Amino acid sequence: MTSNTPIENNNNVNPLSQHLTSEVIRSRLLKENISFFANDNIADHIEPGEITKLEEEVADKIRDLLRSLIIDIDNDHNTLETAERVARMYINEVFKGRYHKQPKVTSFPNVKNLDEIYTVGPMTIRSACSHHFVPIIGNCWIGIKPGNRVIGLSKFSRVADWVFSRPHIQEEAVMILADEIERLCEPKGLGIIVKADHYCMKLRGVKESHCSMVNSVVRGDFRHDPSLKQEFFELVRQQETALSR
Ligand SMILES: [Zn+2]
Repeated sequence: MTSNTPIENNNNVNPLSQHLTSEVIRSRLLKENISFFANDNIADHIEPGEITKLEEEVADKIRDLLRSLIIDIDNDHNTLETAERVARMYINEVFKGRYHKQPKVTSFPNVKNLDEIYTVGPMTIRSACSHHFVPIIGNCWIGIKPGNRVIGLSKFSRVADWVFSRPHIQEEAVMILADEIERLCEPKGLGIIVKADHYCMKLRGVKESHCSMVNSVVRGDFRHDPSLKQEFFELVRQQETALSR
């Protein structure tokens, strides 16, 4: 069977939807050749005022989704404003690490040349899996052998929260966090461990409620020096044991 329908020129932007804020931002990203995968941060390419417009656009789409799920959002008092709530939740909370800039982190010179390793954790991390958009919730430990710059302990938690607040797969999330920490304080050694529960395994699929995923990344001296790596894992083990007492 043949069709006379002309094949549309795929220029990635549908002219009919030019007025949509998402289209405006997307064409900007495409023009500048900026990646906008689920776990990328695009805050530098969003202009003032566009977040509010994006919230409205996403709420419209969620409203359509609820209608497609045949939920009576016009009369059901429980879901009356769900679309607006979910839109705000995605953009400003659960996925804020995509749309909002990194929290301000000031680094200081390591004047005393501290070079003993330390660990920070457990820090709670909250994310959502890229595949199903259901929660990933767990703990993160960061180990540092300081380099020329140091940052405050609470900043690790803020940066981890920002990085994890995007749709992710755990393996990539840990690498992205490691890149950000390296950029912020250029440590001589860095180790990160994440242990998390994946609700796509608990809530659906295999419905396995006692299964969690642990992964780690080690860089610099932690990678080259096995005793240092061992010390990091031992410190984390002690923190975990202390917790379970
Ligand atoms: Zn999943």
